[in-house]
This record gives sequence, structure tokens and C-alpha cells, in this order.
Amino acid sequence: MTMLHLDKVYKIYDKKNIAVNDFNLQIGEKEFVVFVGPSGCGKSTTLRMVAGLETISKGDFYIDGDHMNEVAPKDRDIAMVFQNYALYPHMTVRENMAFGLKLKKIKKDEIDRRVNEAAKTLGLETYLDRKPKALSGGQRQRVALGRAIVREAKVFLMDEPLSNLDAKLRVQMRAEIIKLHQRLQTTTIYVTHDQVEAMTMATRLVVMKDGIIQQIGTPQDIYRHP
Ligand code: ADP
Ligand code: ADP
Repeated sequence: MTMLHLDKVYKIYDKKNIAVNDFNLQIGEKEFVVFVGPSGCGKSTTLRMVAGLETISKGDFYIDGDHMNEVAPKDRDIAMVFQNYALYPHMTVRENMAFGLKLKKIKKDEIDRRVNEAAKTLGLETYLDRKPKALSGGQRQRVALGRAIVREAKVFLMDEPLSNLDAKLRVQMRAEIIKLHQRLQTTTIYVTHDQVEAMTMATRLVVMKDGIIQQIGTPQDIYRHP
């Protein structure tokens, strides 16, 4: 079943700069699709159009069959993880994870259930009362993932989530994110400029250059026909 569908999507800045040029892609449920390519090729812009943080200049975008072009970010069934985790420094881990749900007026019992479950999944149970400054880089990144998980959204979007971590931690967190995806099976788009990261994590890769899709395929396809 198709979860995300970008149909002839364009992003044109200032009436002339084509940042995303005729982007066509259908993403099935449970896929972990990686957008990869050099800086400036249009990965983030595409992801931000999916999130609704950027308008679509031309073309159509659907989630689970529903036309989304005019739908506000908060009304899209999406959770996003950013490069700089943007945790609230004055809040504990539990409060950081619960915050978005409180704004959504979800009941306290349900918030507690989701936060405890996410903490268990991410190995954060013993850190729930700490503030971000008392956590390591990897733990902070897990809290950022936790904030996305608790939304129980249909779609995860991750924009270079590991690029602030050192090399060793990055490799470890790659494996953790793959495991998380295997467990939750949430449709995911993951953006990175790192080819190794893309090849190790993706079920399917979208290779971009200058706003255009150069190649779409499994890691094996891309490895055989680079
Ligand atoms: P990537 O994520 O692959 O590094 P981006 O999607 O950020 O690439 O950028 C794609 C192109 O769009 C780049 O040429 C960039 O300069 C341009 N761009 C991105 N955001 C804006 C903006 N707000 N205004 C004008 N041009 C932009
Ligand atoms: P709501 O989604 O009900 O508006 P939030 O405070 O969680 O409540 O969201 C405020 C804005 O920030 C919305 O546009 C929401 O989509 C976005 N937002 C906040 N946290 C996340 C997240 N983890 N993933 C995706 N979007 C988020």
C-alpha cells in the first residue's frame, strides 16, 4: 500500500531557482527511504514539503491517499526528527517527550503510557527525570527520537539526525534507528549526505543531484549500477 505519493512536485524559489525539479515518488508502508546527495541538491526542501513546512510550487502530494498540499503541518500525521535536537533545556526528559502531546490535549494517562513505552524502547527509563544537559550526545538524540515516537504518527521524517554526533556514536545510532524501524515499521524518509549511511540504512534510496532524482533503487541496485 502506498503511504506517501509525490506527483510531479516542484519547488521554485524566487520565481526562477528550481530547487526540486519534477520529483516523482511513491513510498509504501513500512519502507525506510533515504534521500541522499550532495549539499544543495534539494533533499531538505523535499522533506520540508512533505512535512508542510515549505509550500509546494507545482505538483501534488498525498499521504495515505489524501491530498495534502493545503494541509497545515500540525494536521499531517507526521513526526519529525531534526539535526539539532532542539530539546527544551529547562524540561526533564519526560517533560520533553510529553510536551507535544500536552499541546494536543491528550489525556495524562495516555501521555504517561506513550512516554513510558518510548523510554523503554529507547533505553531511557532511568533518565526520565534528568534535564538534557545531564545527558550524553547519544542520549539526547534518543530523547529527540522519543519525542517523535510518542506522536504515534503514520510517517517519520528524519533530516540528518546523526550529523552532530561523533563517528563512533553515529555508527551505533544508525543501528539503533534501523532496529527501531524494524520494531515500529513506520513509513520513514531519512535525509543524509553520507553515502555509507544511506547504503546501510535504506530499504530504498533516492539519489538526488541539482534538484533532480538521478536514481531510485535498493542498496543492491545502486551498488551494482552506480
Ligand atoms: P539539501 O538539503 O540537499 O542540502 P536544500 O533542499 O536545502 O538542499 O536546498 C536546495 C536548493 O534550494 C539550494 O540551492 C538552496 O540554496 C535552495 N534553497 C533552500 N532554501 C531556500 C530558501 N528559503 N530560499 C531560496 N533558496 C533556497
Ligand atoms: P500540534 O502538532 O498539535 O500542533 P505540537 O506542539 O507538537 O502540537 O506541534 C507544534 C508544531 O510543531 C506543529 O507544526 C507540529 O507539527 C510541529 N512539531 C512539534 N514536534 C514535532 C515532531 N516531533 N515532529 C513533527 N512535528 C513536530
